[in-house]
Amino acid sequence: MQLAIFMMIKLEAAQLAAKIKEAVKAEIDGGLRACLAAVRVGDDPASAVYVRNKIKACEEVGIRSEHHALPESTSNAELLDLVRSLNARDDVDGILVQLPLPRAINETAIIEAIDPAKDVDGFHPVNAGKLAMGRPVFVPCTPAGIMELLDDRGVEIRGVNACVVGRSQIVGRPMAQLLLQRDATVTICHSRTRDLPSVTRTADILVVAIGRAGFIRGEHIKPGATVIDVGMNRVSDPDEIRMLFGSEAEKRLEVVEKRGATLVGDVNPSEAAEVAGMLTPVPGGVGLLTVAMLMKNTLKAARLRRGLS
Ligand code: NAP
Repeated sequence: MQLAIFMMIKLEAAQLAAKIKEAVKAEIDGGLRACLAAVRVGDDPASAVYVRNKIKACEEVGIRSEHHALPESTSNAELLDLVRSLNARDDVDGILVQLPLPRAINETAIIEAIDPAKDVDGFHPVNAGKLAMGRPVFVPCTPAGIMELLDDRGVEIRGVNACVVGRSQIVGRPMAQLLLQRDATVTICHSRTRDLPSVTRTADILVVAIGRAGFIRGEHIKPGATVIDVGMNRVSDPDEIRMLFGSEAEKRLEVVEKRGATLVGDVNPSEAAEVAGMLTPVPGGVGLLTVAMLMKNTLKAARLRRGLS
């Protein structure tokens, strides 16, 4: 029974991501032009994959894209120059600087250099501030996608207890703001939270974004809760995989055989399936929506920059 729910949600995330991209494509086909500039610095293989997926999504929906791949040796000043030149170009609607940046670069200064009107990742302090004030313009893609998923699945938000584990700028904090804006009673947990399970067990909606494979166990989850697993962790140890995936472990071990590792979220999927009412799978859940929301944000930037609502 729980496994059926697990599979169903996995399908819904894929369908919803496709629906969001189709809506963007329809507007582009209708004549709205949009362009996303993606900037990547260095050779981090995960970043290369993320940027490639974003460029591919642009191609799918008809958004023009530019990929600026800079060497690891790029200086702060050179990157700032590129961001400023993209800010100045009228044909560029959205600017995305893939994080993390190499250590030598001042990430905060680069994010703050992006024109807030082109900040399709929603990381600029102007956009973070507007979200905190309840007047969002560009909202970070992952939490924005989660809100779309909750709405699509008809999950009640108003008045419920919501708990967000993790307080990053890109997921945890904006997620909490979005839930608060929709009248949930929100608790934010982090690495210093005392007795985490006793807090998370009060949550009707539990969002986890900590970056620790399978950390959230059955004991953390209120029976019937909606659990949103943002984590993306690579695991390859067979014992860990058996502990995390239960009856699905063999399938995952085959993936490890082929690719060297399998993806797991921050929630232990086999234990959560016993307790949660709904659970986003990893892969196939939140990650799919993140890219779709980037397309939506880029379209929004193009519209706003042309004075359209
Ligand atoms: P991050 O910046 O590394 O922050 C991690 C947060 O988790 C911090 O706030 C930290 O608390 C908290 N934390 C760490 N250990 C904890 C523990 N034992 N108990 C409670 N809280 C703990 O994380 P992030 O960038 O938000 O990413 C989190 C995960 O989501 C990663 O696996 C990442 O790959 C994934 N992610 C996925 C997508 C997607 O599209 N699916 C998008 C973004 C991120 P402190 O603040 O106290 O240190």
